Amino acid sequence: MSYRIICHGGASRVRETSKEKQEVVQFASDIGARVMKEGGSAVDAVVEAISSMENSPLCNAGTGSFLQMDGQVRMDACLMDQDLRVGAVIQISDVKNPIRVARTLLKQGANSILAGEHATQFARITGHSSWDPRTENRVTFWMSQWQKFQNTDPAKILRQVRAELADELQLGTVGAVAQDESGKLAAGTSTGGLKLVMPGRVGDVPLVGCGTYCNQVAGVSCTGTGEKIIRAVLAKTVCGALEFGMNLDQALDLGMERMEQVRGWAGLIMITQDGQISSRHNTQAMVTAVREEA
Ligand code: ASP
Repeated sequence: MSYRIICHGGASRVRETSKEKQEVVQFASDIGARVMKEGGSAVDAVVEAISSMENSPLCNAGTGSFLQMDGQVRMDACLMDQDLRVGAVIQISDVKNPIRVARTLLKQGANSILAGEHATQFARITGHSSWDPRTENRVTFWMSQWQKFQNTDPAKILRQVRAELADELQLGTVGAVAQDESGKLAAGTSTGGLKLVMPGRVGDVPLVGCGTYCNQVAGVSCTGTGEKIIRAVLAKTVCGALEFGMNLDQALDLGMERMEQVRGWAGLIMITQDGQISSRHNTQAMVTAVREEA
């Protein structure tokens, strides 16, 4: 029996990453491995691993997602398998596990990506119950930032807040890539986005080929500054490089070169069809965990 999974809990520009966060990501990879050990698919493993990280208030996904400027949580998630099937939600709110809604979309096959209140409505009618993902910590942080800028021009607030936060990029987006016993790959990513962004801001995560991609050659999940990852089309750039003959190191180098070109911070995890597990980041740190049964 052979299967493997790699999970990430986000890139960070601060080297020190908490032991608790490492445990959450390790636990997620254990869950994903157990799913495959019991005969589940790579898609099932990715969904269960990501759901467990979405349930941790330490991660910026599901419960514990960052609040946008208006104090609301809007989340993005994407799931893809090696047969190029996709399910994604953009700016969904009021659900516990955005990745599970993405899976419902992937399985259903008719509409693979839904956005905003329609994504939330879809979640409700397909049995995903209502859930407020805000935590006390995140609300307190939002209030401390927001109150500083009361009665200030919104454009100025945005510039100031973003400039202050740019230097302390501590993300917490989550992702997983798995390969099951039959050799099939799947990749997924879930996020609350960046701190205090404009309501409705969409990052790389739910955009196919940007934060998440999977084909017969490899599966990739990214983390980092979404606006820059989108410009680098990072996940597809790396998968495409492998597809067109580069080796793993060259493909990862190319991905990081693209990030340099757009001056962006990013990290990624991946598994190739021949079972190589890898990760790369140009940030100080990225929390990852691997489980493999070779
Ligand atoms: N890439 C995510 C976004 O920009 C953030 C992250 O990776 O933590 O929405």
